[in-house]
Amino acid sequence: MREIISLHIGQCGVHVGAMFWQTVCGEHSIENTGLFAGSDCNELPRLPVFFSESSTGRFVPRNLFIDLESGDLNYIRSRSSGALYHPDNFLFYSRSAQNNFAKGYFGDGARLAEVVRNRCRKMIEVTECFQGFQVTHAIGGGTGSGTASNIMQLLMNEFMNDTIFSYTVFPSHDVSNVVVETYNSVFALNTLINFCDNNICMENESLYRICNEQCQIADPEYSHLNELAALVMSGNSASLRFPSQLSCDLRKMTLNLVPFPQLHFCSASYAPNLPSRELANRKFKPGILMDMMFSRDNIMCSMDNPSLYTACAITFRGEVMPTDVDMCVYRMQRQYSENFVKWIPGNLKTAIVARPPKNVVFSCNMVGNNLAIKGVFDKLKKNFEQLYSKRSFTHYYLSEGLSEEYFSEASAALTDLIGEYELWYGTEETQ
Ligand code: GDP
Repeated sequence: MREIISLHIGQCGVHVGAMFWQTVCGEHSIENTGLFAGSDCNELPRLPVFFSESSTGRFVPRNLFIDLESGDLNYIRSRSSGALYHPDNFLFYSRSAQNNFAKGYFGDGARLAEVVRNRCRKMIEVTECFQGFQVTHAIGGGTGSGTASNIMQLLMNEFMNDTIFSYTVFPSHDVSNVVVETYNSVFALNTLINFCDNNICMENESLYRICNEQCQIADPEYSHLNELAALVMSGNSASLRFPSQLSCDLRKMTLNLVPFPQLHFCSASYAPNLPSRELANRKFKPGILMDMMFSRDNIMCSMDNPSLYTACAITFRGEVMPTDVDMCVYRMQRQYSENFVKWIPGNLKTAIVARPPKNVVFSCNMVGNNLAIKGVFDKLKKNFEQLYSKRSFTHYYLSEGLSEEYFSEASAALTDLIGEYELWYGTEETQ
């Protein structure tokens, strides 16, 4: 079995992670006790990809919840679903990273990262054919940026043949009120560029907008945003968890999506996003769902430039004829031809998983390597330069051991990344 270890780091990472397990357990009929309570034989065979099976027949998530302080972990553990997780899989120290990348990266953060690496080693030892890590975190705080960076560097150095696939929540002014999130994010990006194979970028601002405008939730809370993030994770992992016509793994997903090592930052979209009362009764045609996928209304990060995809992976979930999907793809390739680079043939891959998410008849999920994601990095760079031009707030980092050079190194890495995106945009325009 191709096993995956899930790492949930920092407050946001922990809550998104817990929502992912809640979603997945719902789809596989796993109760809070870890026991299987379903009758559909398709739910069981691929469970070991994400779960370990105990000698008593309980399915235990193969995951680690990681935070520098214990509050959010205690909360997850105290809920009725807390019994699902192995008690040793909650790893924490006693001091918060206080929204500071440096506090998360050095000191307790570094010690915690070592503990995580050792635990991963042990978990990998008992796998049959380990395939990689799935990470959830936000890069605006201290733990999800600093400690996650340290962890990814250790893992990439030690398990270099295994994939690191991360779901990263980017900050936004509307949903957060800490000014240094820009610094933390730029520092964390410096790691994500080099120590992560494939990165799904989700901006809180976009998650909020989708909850508010599409799902008609008047005042969305983090839990609503996390439900959306969990739907993306569940959709993206559906072909790893259920039988589908393509045998899929993290390496293949990455291979199809990432044409150059640095350009591994992907957007995600999910459809249908509807008020919950309408979900159970609506069955959209594949073509309509596909249009929703490409609509900016459903893309989970904001993009200022026209979309230009190097590659897309689309998963349809529910009863659908492969010929209908093929026709849809054919139409999309003609209708949206301007939005696909010409230099990668067959860059729209589809998978069908007969099992839809819970309470939905038919859904669709897309991960796209869209060059327009450059807009997310442009915004970060602009904010970084504004802050850094007066060296404002830098003392918080310098006093925790981060060097002056690290500011310029991280800023240069971001500039290079933007340059690379611009290069490939330019290449397309001159064709
Ligand atoms: P850390 O524990 O030090 O990594 O800090 P956080 O995980 O709280 O990171 C701060 C960023 O995460 C900010 O941009 C917050 O808006 C965002 N955030 C915190 N909690 C959640 C959550 O549960 N869901 C989402 N979507 N974002 C969160």
